Amino acid sequence: MSTGHKMDRVEYSPEILKLVLDDMVSEAGVLPLLHAQLLGVESEGRQVSAVQMLTKGGALKVSPRILIDGSGDLDALRHAGCKFLQLAEGEALQPATMMFRFGPVDFDRFDSTPKEEIKSLAQRGYQTGALARAALHASRNPYSNDAWFNISRLSVDATDAMALGKAEIEGRKQAWLAAEFLQAHVPGCESGRLQAFATQIGIRETRRVEGDHILTSQELMGPAIFKDAIASGAYPIDIHPAHGGDLTYKVMDDEHSYQIPYRSLLPINLDNVYVVGRGISADHEALAAIRVMTISMAVGQAAGTAAAMICKLPGPASTRALNVQKLQQHLLEDGGLFGSF
Ligand SMILES: Cc1cc2nc3c(=O)[nH]c(=O)nc-3n(C[C@H](O)[C@H](O)[C@H](O)COP(=O)(O)OP(=O)(O)OC[C@H]3O[C@@H](n4cnc5c(N)ncnc54)[C@H](O)[C@@H]3O)c2cc1C
Repeated sequence: MSTGHKMDRVEYSPEILKLVLDDMVSEAGVLPLLHAQLLGVESEGRQVSAVQMLTKGGALKVSPRILIDGSGDLDALRHAGCKFLQLAEGEALQPATMMFRFGPVDFDRFDSTPKEEIKSLAQRGYQTGALARAALHASRNPYSNDAWFNISRLSVDATDAMALGKAEIEGRKQAWLAAEFLQAHVPGCESGRLQAFATQIGIRETRRVEGDHILTSQELMGPAIFKDAIASGAYPIDIHPAHGGDLTYKVMDDEHSYQIPYRSLLPINLDNVYVVGRGISADHEALAAIRVMTISMAVGQAAGTAAAMICKLPGPASTRALNVQKLQQHLLEDGGLFGSF
């Protein structure tokens, strides 16, 4: 099996996925709480002691033994007083995107259009202002002739509530213009029209926590070997610039893979908290690689497994007291792959 990255598109039905995820939650015995917003976090020294949420039934307070912040924006960690990494000189947050569903698409024609023609159409769309980025990325929605297009670009700091709403509205405008462009100019799209906007804009980057280890792009490129590796990845460094139409893309060899250390999941000033997904402790360039779904899932599985192990131990929860070798053993038994360590 190749350890490297293949730029393939895994097609799945978003509606069926929702049912599958519901089943997984229920089979795992999770008590789901949907439609809740974080209100605040209480900490005592290095321990988070309570989390307050706003629900349909009013405010709700829970006292977690372990808190895992998988919100991408890391609002809980902000309330808990965590330190965040700053962007370096010349860096900017990656932009957001309003995905949209468009169809019907004649995929025989769309997929057989030469790459160079697609590239020059995308450039034309960008230069005339119809497209916010010079791309025509589309993923087919199975059981239909529609595709989800990833071609809008919104520079936004998702921690700014007013800016977030404004960007979502601007995203719908960009998507509408892009759909008109597809219909008018792109082979296979002539009969299509915009079918749906995504539920909300997709955010690529918000906060990155300062953890016990700050994963760097050099370590990914090395790749560095970590004794406390808990996940691996092979996705290239893929930076969408906040402005302009292009991408910065640092490819890796076909057989290249890298590791994510356990310490990048531990905010430096708290003992019963994990961070997962696109907020782990990594520099801006490393985040551009490890932010993707498969890696976020692997990191999430590691934190979930670790939290379950800690909850079986007596006394105050401590992520740093966990036997990481035992965690690695558990992850390997469950099919985890993270190379030698
Ligand atoms: C447009 C776009 C296209 C992408 N394409 C790909 C791709 O093709 N392949 C790939 O692998 N990856 C892709 N990615 C990357 C990938 O989708 C994300 O990086 C990944 O989903 C990160 O997962 P996450 O769970 O950390 O964060 P998110 O997916 O952002 O999930 C965070 C969740 O927390 C919720 N939340 C946030 N704050 C709060 C709060 N205060 N209270 C309650 N809930 C809250 C949010 O609503 C959201 O549901 C793409 C990203 C974008 C934006």
